[in-house]
Amino acid sequence: MALLENLNSNREVIISDAIDHNGPTTPRATRAEIHLEALRHNVRAIRSLLQPEVKLMAVVKADGYGHGALPCTRAVLAAGADCLGVGIVAEGVELRENGVQAPIQVLTGHFPNEIDDLIQHELTATVWNSSMAKDLANRAAECDRQVGVHVKVDTGMGRLGGTSDNLPALMEFIHHSKNLRAEGVFTHFSTADEEDSEFTTLQLERFQATLNKINQGEIPAPPAHCANSSALLRYPESHFSMVRPGLILYGALTSKNLEPALDKLLGSTAEKKLRPVMAWKTQILQINKISKGSPLSYGKKFITRRDSTIATLPVGYADGLNRALSGKMSVLIHGQRVSQVGTICMDLCMVDVTDLPQVRAGDEVVILGRQGSEAIAVEEMADHARTIPYEILCCVGKRVPRIYIP
Ligand SMILES: *Cc1c(COP(=O)(O)O)cnc(C)c1O
Repeated sequence: MALLENLNSNREVIISDAIDHNGPTTPRATRAEIHLEALRHNVRAIRSLLQPEVKLMAVVKADGYGHGALPCTRAVLAAGADCLGVGIVAEGVELRENGVQAPIQVLTGHFPNEIDDLIQHELTATVWNSSMAKDLANRAAECDRQVGVHVKVDTGMGRLGGTSDNLPALMEFIHHSKNLRAEGVFTHFSTADEEDSEFTTLQLERFQATLNKINQGEIPAPPAHCANSSALLRYPESHFSMVRPGLILYGALTSKNLEPALDKLLGSTAEKKLRPVMAWKTQILQINKISKGSPLSYGKKFITRRDSTIATLPVGYADGLNRALSGKMSVLIHGQRVSQVGTICMDLCMVDVTDLPQVRAGDEVVILGRQGSEAIAVEEMADHARTIPYEILCCVGKRVPRIYIP
């Protein structure tokens, strides 16, 4: 409908509008269940690791790490998150347009042409040099508004942020501008998830030195923050005034290696542990009997080694099932692991169900999540695809409907 309207009214077609993900029609068999109670549990569990005065920014960028920014935002706020972090201005605007009133920081900065959107939607800006601060202050003055700003310091990521040399002048400018409100100073870690703590410690020292430098001036240092998920778990000294977890909100870890440390913090019972928020499921579309020695799928990369029963699933790389997983991943059917075989196609892939008696078209298939006593974790899938859980979650495709379970 949106597509047709666009075609009629102007020549620009916004393709992403062509699919109404939560529309009234029957959702597709391939779907991602989003367990909002798990998300709320995770927020409360994370909160329990913080000193009472430490604020919790829930990072909901990239459409809530693929889970859906708006429902996740509502859930994390209900569970006690103080504010939100997004990646780009448009993500902040989307939340505002849907009535979200909590503070929203655009973590990765903005271009000059995005300043009006920032101001109009009362988003919190990230700045790292005086020219950004001046542009923001000038426009805010013209609109008779005040904008909250956080100053980003680069302590070793080499990506975004100012150096501690230009910082005093920047802080001074913000402090004296009627139209800017200094609300934070922050940095970001590059290796907080790694076993070796040397570089994180160095980044922490540089950050602390920067804060000390600000504190030596006349101007009060604004609240400091630096902890992403891994630093939150592994470096309590990095909590400062606020923490910024993303991945762990969604019940995933950067690596399974962090699990023992987390169990020590939260307790290892199912009741206490972080809970995966997304379960990615589908159903068997077709079952084929294929004789021994037959090639399957594109490129004939897999040849059946026995007379086989092969189930075809309606999920492929266009749904975010990374093609690098071809022949490497498993899925759960009837509570058992079965191997994916052959090249993953755009819309489809195949699994070998020869060892499962009585499989039928329509049977539930779990790609990520639990079925019976078995579970497939996003960390496992990421290992098989030689990537990280973040990428797996963010890349679950637009055409996979998210089904929200309250
Ligand atoms: C994405 C992001 C986070 C959250 O990182 P996780 O590793 O997902 O916890 C925190 N801070 C900034 C600046 C980010 O861009």
